[in-house]
Amino acid sequence: MNLEPWQREFDVALGAVREGAALARDIRQRLGEHVLLKADRSPVTVADFSVQALVAHRLGQAFPDDPLVAEEDSASLQLPDARPTLQSVLDVLHRVVPGLPADQVLEAIDRGRGTPGQRFWTLDPVDGTQGFVRGDLYVVALALIVGGRVEIGLLGCPELSLSDGRRDAVGTIVYAVRNRGAFGGSLGGDKFTPLRVSSRREPRLARVLRSFESDHIDIKTFNETIRTLGIEAAPTLMDSQAKHAMIAAGQAELLIRVPATPEFRDKIWDQAAGTIIIEEAGGRVTDMRGTSLDFGTGRMLVRNEGVIASNGHFHAAILDAFLSATEE
Ligand code: AMP
Ligand code: MG
Repeated sequence: MNLEPWQREFDVALGAVREGAALARDIRQRLGEHVLLKADRSPVTVADFSVQALVAHRLGQAFPDDPLVAEEDSASLQLPDARPTLQSVLDVLHRVVPGLPADQVLEAIDRGRGTPGQRFWTLDPVDGTQGFVRGDLYVVALALIVGGRVEIGLLGCPELSLSDGRRDAVGTIVYAVRNRGAFGGSLGGDKFTPLRVSSRREPRLARVLRSFESDHIDIKTFNETIRTLGIEAAPTLMDSQAKHAMIAAGQAELLIRVPATPEFRDKIWDQAAGTIIIEEAGGRVTDMRGTSLDFGTGRMLVRNEGVIASNGHFHAAILDAFLSATEE
């Protein structure tokens, strides 16, 4: 398929995400967890730093003028206590980029401090770090944003099988390019097939996905929304934008992310790739009020509270259910 004007961007991004996802899987198999805590107490691992360094390095070679807006920076990696972690990052990275000096590795990681502008990339090197550490799902998420809109999104999912959402030795890659559809295939292969959301139309029968980490959402409002829709099946708990891949592939109908507090705002890299992939597969993504996600407001989705993603057929019913759940 002709992906102009984004053919080169797409080719580079696909290569980088594929490499990054393979690297993350390799790190988990060989090194185990190896967790550091960032200043905000959230976990970060050798995989987060190594994948960010690799993807940033590849993007920097191909598109030196494009800013990168990514989750990690090298601050915690440069602390004296982190020396063994830094050494592991260098060891891992040198298997794919032989001889890259330490200062250039740190520089690559810090390319992620770029300023979001008219055109930029956004990366979550390991979306679902807690899933990675727990031995569950995580993804490498990369997107190209132009004029506040996602044009290309890719999710490298080393542990996901799209047929049933379970752990899988082969891994999956899904992607979408604006107006060209969404596609999925195995992580190592070249064969991609179109993704399509499910055709279920009854809210009652929706298969619902939510974060594994219950403190990432307001459980009470989540449960109330589900109850109002008449959904009886228990939701599936899943880390990361693997949830978005599942909806795009027609394996689930609904994702509800009610923020735990009204002030919370999602980071753009936690939603950008997943959003275009669901939309291009025929689904719909909005915030809790039904407004489209605006990726042109900086590192965070400042204008959007929460996320609702669906196969599109009963999106309005979900928004109504959410409103009535929050009215009392
Ligand atoms: P998920 O597994 O869908 O909850 O997504 C994982 C992402 O949630 C991580 O990449 C974090 O950026 C983000 N996150 C971390 N803390 C919170 C929080 N308190 N509320 C919502 N999202 C969070
Ligand atoms: Mg994340």
